Amino acid sequence: MQKPTQCATSVEAVRFLAADVMEVDLRMQEPPEFHFDAGQWVSIPFGPKTVRAYSIASTPRSPKVITLCADVAPGGIGSKWFRALERGQPVPFKGPTGGFVFHRTDPRRVLFVAEEIGIVPIRSILTELYETGFGRGAALIYWGRDPGWLVYEAEFRSLARRYPSFSYFPVVREAPPVTAASSAGFAGAGIPVDARRGPPRPPSMIDKGEAAEVVDRLVHSVNGLVAYVSGGGEMINRVRAVLMAKGLDRKSVKWEKFW
Ligand SMILES: Cc1cc2nc3c(=O)[nH]c(=O)nc-3n(C[C@H](O)[C@H](O)[C@H](O)COP(=O)(O)OP(=O)(O)OC[C@H]3O[C@@H](n4cnc5c(N)ncnc54)[C@H](O)[C@@H]3O)c2cc1C
Repeated sequence: MQKPTQCATSVEAVRFLAADVMEVDLRMQEPPEFHFDAGQWVSIPFGPKTVRAYSIASTPRSPKVITLCADVAPGGIGSKWFRALERGQPVPFKGPTGGFVFHRTDPRRVLFVAEEIGIVPIRSILTELYETGFGRGAALIYWGRDPGWLVYEAEFRSLARRYPSFSYFPVVREAPPVTAASSAGFAGAGIPVDARRGPPRPPSMIDKGEAAEVVDRLVHSVNGLVAYVSGGGEMINRVRAVLMAKGLDRKSVKWEKFW
């Protein structure tokens, strides 16, 4: 793992993925390449004792330009800074930091659970794993209050189509109407979390409920399972409680608490 260092970058591009979710591409200046493990984060300084942490959304395969992604709805200092970013603007940060990383030598089945913007480190981990020939099974439960908050939805659908060993379960609190078009096709045939209950569903069908309920419904056996859970503290606690009630040991639930 790299030691955190002070880095200088400049803004290469800024994009809105949704009304309140933004991505920024930062071109490395010093050092010219940034080496990190998928799932790690950087801290942006806003004063002598004020920083905000942002997970890296891009993968270690892109060391010259890194992408951050933020939910700017909280409206504090970090959100305001994100909204005002302009091309060419210098951005210092310190990093990489954090141990929310997946070791591909870990032989366990892996379940990822993300709440809204908590998807960022998981997006980096999953993209990296499958782009570099991870043949084993993994499942993602990606929760948002409504479909507009599932900002990397299309990428995960595409990943599930390309890699049958990857199972994708989008879940929202408010379900969208199911149309004929949205129920076409199947993906994620080998559901590694638990294949016993029910047939695989169309990938575009979005489940309705809360993240922990879906974990409870889909995970029957926790034998040989490791879980990576990212988002708000309440969701993390609920998901961990569900998995521990099924017999998973506490240490097998890795978490990244954003708020
Ligand atoms: C390890 C780590 C990685 C993080 N990675 C990211 C990331 O990749 N993208 C990202 O957007 N944020 C990330 N965060 C959260 C981020 O550091 C800021 O807290 C967030 O951007 C809000 O900052 P703010 O200054 O706008 O609001 P603040 O003044 O810091 O927060 C205002 C209030 O909103 C709460 N809050 C913060 N974020 C959310 C949220 N998304 N949903 C609901 N409530 C929230 C805070 O707990 C606080 O009560 C990460 C946090 C940690 C600890």
